[in-house]
Amino acid sequence: MLSIRVSAGNVLFKEGDPANCAYLVEEGWIEIYTEQDGRRQSLSLIGTGQLFGEMGVIDGSVRTATAVATENSKLLCISAEQFLSLLDHAEPFHAELLRKLVARFREAQKAWMKGAILPRQESSAMGPGYAMLAGHRDIAHAIDRGEIVPYLQPIVDMVSGRWLGFEALARWQTPDDGVKLPVEFLPLAERTGLVQRIDLCIALRAMTELHPVGGHPCPYLNINFSAWHFKEERLLPAVRDLLEQSHLEPERLRIELTESQMLDNSDQALEIMSELQALGVKLALDDFGTGYSSLSVLHQMPFQILKIDRSLVSGVLVESRQRYVLRNLVALAADLDMEIVTEGVEDEATAIALRSLGCLAGQGYLYGRPMPIEDAIAAWQEQEATAAAKP
Ligand code: C2E
Ligand code: CA
Ligand code: CA
Repeated sequence: MLSIRVSAGNVLFKEGDPANCAYLVEEGWIEIYTEQDGRRQSLSLIGTGQLFGEMGVIDGSVRTATAVATENSKLLCISAEQFLSLLDHAEPFHAELLRKLVARFREAQKAWMKGAILPRQESSAMGPGYAMLAGHRDIAHAIDRGEIVPYLQPIVDMVSGRWLGFEALARWQTPDDGVKLPVEFLPLAERTGLVQRIDLCIALRAMTELHPVGGHPCPYLNINFSAWHFKEERLLPAVRDLLEQSHLEPERLRIELTESQMLDNSDQALEIMSELQALGVKLALDDFGTGYSSLSVLHQMPFQILKIDRSLVSGVLVESRQRYVLRNLVALAADLDMEIVTEGVEDEATAIALRSLGCLAGQGYLYGRPMPIEDAIAAWQEQEATAAAKP
């Protein structure tokens, strides 16, 4: 971006010029006008903090008016390339809103110049903003119809093979398209905030169904909460409500959070975390070992469980450095009184290697994929019955 100074009377662009940049007025005044039958028709005066010349950049058309400095002015030039790249990175809905506003303004301007009152809005393609709104609507309907449900994946004692509890993972059971994975609907729900409703309905259903399931000890339940609950300070009341409605004992509930959720407002995050712990709920740091986690969070935040990401686990058989990192993490977690759960355990050899490093609890395809709640509960009950039958 370039700052330029222009003197009073300087023309910045003329009607018919290509729109190769937009301008932000830093100082001074710019007049925008058209000429009709040799008469100058002033359209607007643009002052400090205002943008002009952006319309042609947004809709790719030539200038439909002339811009001239009415006094010595200072302008920030934003090239069309830069402007469009910012627009490409904007939320599709916001970018489309801008394009539609420009189209409407152009029509209004044309109509006004012809003396008409009601400009006709030409039909146009639906665009990515529409896809986002329609996607949001579909997910909201799916929640209302109870199509978004929790699947449960067991978390296992890797020494005895005994299931200890479950992580609830969202699945969309569509009427005609089979079961959709989170990657197919969560990113959009994250962007629009709808993920909060998903989290709550997954948590309530899983907690309610798991509450009556007994055992020695009873299975615990891990749930995932999006950063939105932190941002909107709804986490604590939401968890209280969930516990009240489901009757699940707080000690059986584990909330999985990622470090990036805590970064925005760590003092506030700390307060919420300690209030959750005062309820008896345990907190797990999810995805540890990905780009979003760092060691500092381990001692700054009072997590009781550390979930080690699959990316750290998968190389454990071949990478000696990875084994070294894991061994030290186990020692660190023990010092900090944290329990470790390793994610993505896919084969026995990895499980053996993890056990030898001191990782005792694991989750992964080796032990069980995420499954419908009824199947998970049936398998749990079978395990308990087998254990009870043993002398
Ligand atoms: P996550 O919390 O890290 O969950 C673990 C993911 O790893 C799950 O993917 C699980 O199916 C998968 N996984 C488990 N064991 C293995 C294994 O041995 N190998 C491999 N390759 N993958 C394994 P899933 O169910 O597709 O969920 C993806 C992510 O979506 C979750 O990652 C979590 O971040 C998010 N998510 C899922 N359900 C919810 C939810 O209800 N609320 C929120 N906010 N996020 C959710
Ligand atoms: Ca998780
Ligand atoms: Ca994880």
